[in-house]
Amino acid sequence: MRYSGFRIIREALTGHRGWGPAWRDPVPQAAYDYVIVGGGGHGLATAYYLAKTYGKARIAVLEKGWIGSGNAGRNTTIIRSNYLLDGNEPFYELSMQLWEGLEQELNYNAMISQRGILNLCHSDGQRDAYRRRGNAMRLNGVDAELLDRDGVRAMAPFLDFDNARFPIKGGLVQRRAGTARHDAVVWGYARGADRLGVDIIQNCEVTGMRIEGGRILGLETTRGFIGAGKVGVAVAGNSSRVMAMAGMRLPMESHVLQAFVSEGLKPLIPGVITFGAGHFYVSQSDKGGLVFGGDIDGYNSYAQRGNLPVVEDVCEGGMALMPMIGRARLLRIWGGIMDMSMDGSPIIDRTDVDGLYFNGGWCYGGFKATPGSGLCFAHLLATDSPQATAAAMRLDRFRRGLLIDEKGVGNQPNLH
Ligand SMILES: Cc1cc2nc3c(=O)[nH]c(=O)nc-3n(C[C@H](O)[C@H](O)[C@H](O)COP(=O)(O)OP(=O)(O)OC[C@H]3O[C@@H](n4cnc5c(N)ncnc54)[C@H](O)[C@@H]3O)c2cc1C
Repeated sequence: MRYSGFRIIREALTGHRGWGPAWRDPVPQAAYDYVIVGGGGHGLATAYYLAKTYGKARIAVLEKGWIGSGNAGRNTTIIRSNYLLDGNEPFYELSMQLWEGLEQELNYNAMISQRGILNLCHSDGQRDAYRRRGNAMRLNGVDAELLDRDGVRAMAPFLDFDNARFPIKGGLVQRRAGTARHDAVVWGYARGADRLGVDIIQNCEVTGMRIEGGRILGLETTRGFIGAGKVGVAVAGNSSRVMAMAGMRLPMESHVLQAFVSEGLKPLIPGVITFGAGHFYVSQSDKGGLVFGGDIDGYNSYAQRGNLPVVEDVCEGGMALMPMIGRARLLRIWGGIMDMSMDGSPIIDRTDVDGLYFNGGWCYGGFKATPGSGLCFAHLLATDSPQATAAAMRLDRFRRGLLIDEKGVGNQPNLH
């Protein structure tokens, strides 16, 4: 069924009896050509592009809970392509361009809103760094603007410009950045993949991998053994646990990242704003809630909830940036598990096991990558060669010293 305004009117007039399920609930088959582990945004997008772009048959997505129950349904929905390094920027821009046509492509309202992102700077040195990043973006054909103090004031007059410790000196803006409704992205890809014949199997946890003679034959799951020609793993925060089933130890740590949403307020925040002197960022949802977050929790964990010191740290950042946030009441706090890679950049690569491919290390920036990640992982699975924009995202780059160290802090997963 195609969704449209006309369809909504027709259903409204006929008692809404015509809507069908958006995707099937199939029984797993004995074997598939391609099995994707993880029904988050990345796994579903991969299955969608595999079926659509590469015309691959017999594809399944296995999800241990319900689709979108991981980070895809827990993030703060920011999409952007404002990266410095060549290993990252073309990939994130590819993703941004896919976002721009996604709703038409999927025939699904993902509430993509290009309301812009403003990265604030608080010192002359930081402004130089932003100028450099903006220039690098423009060399890659991506929009970037450096604003002075007055330019920032015109956009966000409520900020604390004369904070004694962190005065605002200007900001870097990407106007094509913005937000997208995270659940809708998952549902849109699921519906799109299902229409192309992909089996989306929920409540099906992968518990083991059957590997013989260096080749993967299939997966042990809570719903029995499922044979597979090729397996693509896209399980975000659970990457280390799942890849350990293949005997692999990843260059990665799992940490919790928390997010916060306030009560609904009148329109206030024009786009996404990030604090440059600490870890705090904020946007406003379409319902009016201020959606904000900050740093990861400092210890390794697989719990999807965080601790109070980080709550305090995030609130301090918010108060330094826009003191009136202290008057807003908090509605909810939640957490998700981040797959923090050593250099803060992702991995989309083959592994030493024939037929086993890995997608992960998205840290806390993987939502914006969802379409690009799906497209590039599908390309790798289908062709056995990396898609051009993801060619640097190799698993062995840590051993070879070819880091994509966007922040320039080295092998420090907790600092990315
Ligand atoms: C609080 C928070 C805020 C964030 N904010 C942003 C943001 O603003 N912008 C941005 O770009 N990124 C953001 N992120 C990061 C982003 O959400 C993730 O990088 C991205 O969602 C990861 O990819 P995914 O959607 O496929 O992951 P997930 O949705 O986590 O998908 C992985 C799936 O694998 C499943 N799985 C795990 N183990 C197994 C198994 N053994 N068998 C079967 N299935 C399994 C899980 O249940 C899960 O559904 C944020 C994350 C959090 C937690």
